[in-house]
Amino acid sequence: MSSTRKNARNTRQLEVIWNVIKDDKSHPTADQIYDRVRKLIPKISLGTVYRNLQKLVADDRLQVLMHGRSQHFDPLLERHQHFICENCDRVYDIFFETPGAIDSATLPDQVFKVSSHQLALYGTCKNCSS
Ligand SMILES: [Zn+2]
Ligand SMILES: [Zn+2]
Repeated sequence: MSSTRKNARNTRQLEVIWNVIKDDKSHPTADQIYDRVRKLIPKISLGTVYRNLQKLVADDRLQVLMHGRSQHFDPLLERHQHFICENCDRVYDIFFETPGAIDSATLPDQVFKVSSHQLALYGTCKNCSS
């Protein structure tokens, strides 16, 4: 295969993966994204999907959120918080004003320079509490 054709294939894979995730608000893991991409590109490997996800993160099109040991991918780059249900593991987007920026001077050890902070809320979601 010529390198031009290989590049075209790589670009197509990246675009298919992007289309699968771009409107997804459920914060899927790489495995969940892989299951969906496989329906569109049956021969793709999990490694390829994973590499493309990392590329989308590096290109600032996706953000990663760590929950336990798994990475969840989030196309919403606008500043927001997450509510994680301890019962069903679903991740919800929450928009509310956080109590100001965390000032380095208020940290117990002031040698750290804070650039941002992330707040995650844990509990029971509306589906699980009824
Ligand atoms: Zn739940
Ligand atoms: Zn989110």
